[in-house]
Amino acid sequence: MSDEPKALRGWHYLPALPLRAAPLFRWPFKPVEALKWLIDGWLPISEKLVLVAIAFATLAWVQPPLEVTATLSPDWIIGIWLRNMVLMIAVAGGLHLYFYRWRKQGDELKFDARPLKTRGSQFKFGDQVKDNIFWTLASGVSIWTGYEVLMFWAMSNGWLPMLKWAENPILFVALFLLLPLWESFYFYWIHRLLHWPPLYKRIHILHHRNVNIGPWSGMSMHPLEHLLYFGTVLIHWVVPAHPVHIINHLQYYALTAATSHTGFDALQVKGRPRLHLGNFHHQMHHRYFECNYGSPAVPLDNIFGSFHDGTVEANERMAERRERMMV
Ligand SMILES: [Zn+2]
Ligand SMILES: [Zn+2]
Repeated sequence: MSDEPKALRGWHYLPALPLRAAPLFRWPFKPVEALKWLIDGWLPISEKLVLVAIAFATLAWVQPPLEVTATLSPDWIIGIWLRNMVLMIAVAGGLHLYFYRWRKQGDELKFDARPLKTRGSQFKFGDQVKDNIFWTLASGVSIWTGYEVLMFWAMSNGWLPMLKWAENPILFVALFLLLPLWESFYFYWIHRLLHWPPLYKRIHILHHRNVNIGPWSGMSMHPLEHLLYFGTVLIHWVVPAHPVHIINHLQYYALTAATSHTGFDALQVKGRPRLHLGNFHHQMHHRYFECNYGSPAVPLDNIFGSFHDGTVEANERMAERRERMMV
């Protein structure tokens, strides 16, 4: 734990605090800082860049052509379901083995040193990880696949506006860069909705069984939450996209749910952080509930007063907010 007298208590590792909104939306606007943030967020290596590469590889090697997806048939639908299953197990399962089973990084850069719960009657099979695996694979991968099937079927039949590289290369690249910003915006709003008490009690509480989180926590959601969550891709009924953007859009939502819930700030290579993974912003949401519904990329939490920057002062403000709500 940090020796700083004002450090937030109860955390094992804290990133540089206070957390700040992305410079893209900070005032006064500093273009150089914003450009540096954008470049640092992608290069030299980032999960975003890896995901774009995975989307292109998927399109090249394991995507049925549009002539095939024009007709709904179990042959190709099962293929897409299987490939999503493999991706989800590889990413969430791989991170879980690396960080939690084999403990390759020990507790270094781990926000919360407590182990995941192996016992608890609130969990299916009485175990946090097994419960999470069940909801992720049974519901998450199936609904992700359902949206993918819907989008390709619609695209093949000419019902979606199609974007081609040759016609608009700038928009083609820009869509990859805009996706994380859209994700931050969209996720904030559906997440706020899910914290509306009637929906929270019936739906979102399932995700919040994870007070301390691991890679399998990210996609552990009620099926109705999966429906809302992956509904993000429906934007391409309006915003033109190429098949690779559709693949990337859904893979991004599915797989960064696993990486962002890793519980570790970064993957270390030879003792140095090399690949940023978890995010303390959302980790605090799991422990404190009434804060950080979105992410720092689009600072809606700052605008609507729910931002927790990881400092003791922010904690006190949150406690006051809670008290006001109780009155
Ligand atoms: Zn929540
Ligand atoms: Zn979460």
